[in-house]
Amino acid sequence: MTLSRAWLQELLLIVLVYTWAVIIAFFSQTLGVNLVIASLLYFFWHVQQMLGFHLWLDNPERYRPPFAFGVWRAAIDGANNLRRNERQRERRLEQMLDSFEESTNALPDAILVINDKGQVEWLNRPTTRLLGLHRTTGQLVDIAAVFNSSRFNDYLESGDYRQPIKLTSPINKQLLLEVRLVPYGSGKRLLQIRDISRLEQLETIRQDFVANVSHEMRTPLTVIRGYLETMAEDPDLKESAWNSIIEQLNRQTSRLQHIVEDLLLLSRLENDDVRREPEKVSVQPLLESIVAEAQALSGDSQHQISLDLDSSINLLGQSDELRSLFSNLVFNAVNYTPARGRIEVLWYADRDGPIFSVTDTGIGIEKQHIPRLTERFYRVDESRSRKSGGTGLGLAIVKHVLSRHGGKLTIHSRFGEGSTFSCHFPLSRMLENGATAQQPAGQV
Ligand code: ADP
Repeated sequence: MTLSRAWLQELLLIVLVYTWAVIIAFFSQTLGVNLVIASLLYFFWHVQQMLGFHLWLDNPERYRPPFAFGVWRAAIDGANNLRRNERQRERRLEQMLDSFEESTNALPDAILVINDKGQVEWLNRPTTRLLGLHRTTGQLVDIAAVFNSSRFNDYLESGDYRQPIKLTSPINKQLLLEVRLVPYGSGKRLLQIRDISRLEQLETIRQDFVANVSHEMRTPLTVIRGYLETMAEDPDLKESAWNSIIEQLNRQTSRLQHIVEDLLLLSRLENDDVRREPEKVSVQPLLESIVAEAQALSGDSQHQISLDLDSSINLLGQSDELRSLFSNLVFNAVNYTPARGRIEVLWYADRDGPIFSVTDTGIGIEKQHIPRLTERFYRVDESRSRKSGGTGLGLAIVKHVLSRHGGKLTIHSRFGEGSTFSCHFPLSRMLENGATAQQPAGQV
């Protein structure tokens, strides 16, 4: 109701009450008394409205607003509007708070609000995982006590927060955290904590990798350089010496070439995210040609290499990558099996999918080495691997090719008795007698 309308009604009420008093006085001749009664009635009406209004304002759930008109109607309408606006504001605020909570909880980083006394006022859910802190309504926690580290205390008190610091998590020493303070408001600070364990691990792997590559390349380069110096110092070398030098230069350059080729292949496998469209790979001719190459590699060692395959099973994948995978495993079996040893190559399928396996009666591998064999440049016996022309990258390539084909590698080995390397491919990669795979090719 508008204010002018309310006052108009109020005026009407006054006019009605006093007109009534005057009309009665016209018959009873008691104008003074009537006016007093009318005023009292008007006064009590207002007291009653005031009481009803007060009770309703105080406890709107229990009391209904009084029946009113005039200024009291306007007051009740006004209070109602204020209440409605307040409720809408509260609802909007709650929604904003909910979505703020939701988004900060979805962050991978822990976020904490620290007050000017260094106490935690607010925190998001990831804080529990990184610091072991839970949200409580009780006493505020001292952030310095949570870290219990002099480095963190120095950082907190320094006031210079331009650079973050690295600390281990107080609840898990394996977790490396990047801790950054951001000052805001009056004396408040936002504490942002990131889990950088994985990044740090990748950095270590990168550094190890560079060191390993340099080490691998240095050996053949040193040998090549040595022979070149001999040639430069003594140009009148005998023919027999020339032959041995050329053979050595050949061996070392082909070693370098193998390392570079394997590195390039690995880097392509690791970085080539845009997967090529898988194609039908005929496994039988591929394995037959690899086994023939293995026989040639064996040479005078005369390994007994057998191939037992189910020719009806083919694969959906990349033939060049699969050739690398299969040949690495078969050639390893030749390289790590003494002369005349047996090597069995199998290609078959069980209910989970196709399996490629190579079993040898070779030197075998001690248990503790098995989990690390697929690491780049990991070798059980360095000199043996080098002698056989190994780059230490073969099984890393195998692992990558398999993961790109959705498969997994299992290794069983007994030291001194032999090993079995098996590649398990998913059913979705199997092509049987020209049938199509069970899943669309692109989904792998
Ligand atoms: P390499 O080029 O040295 O053969 P790989 O990555 O292919 O590198 O293999 C890693 C290591 O695993 C080898 O150095 C060797 O010690 C061990 N290994 C691989 N295959 C066999 C096997 N069939 N029998 C015994 N040891 C093996």
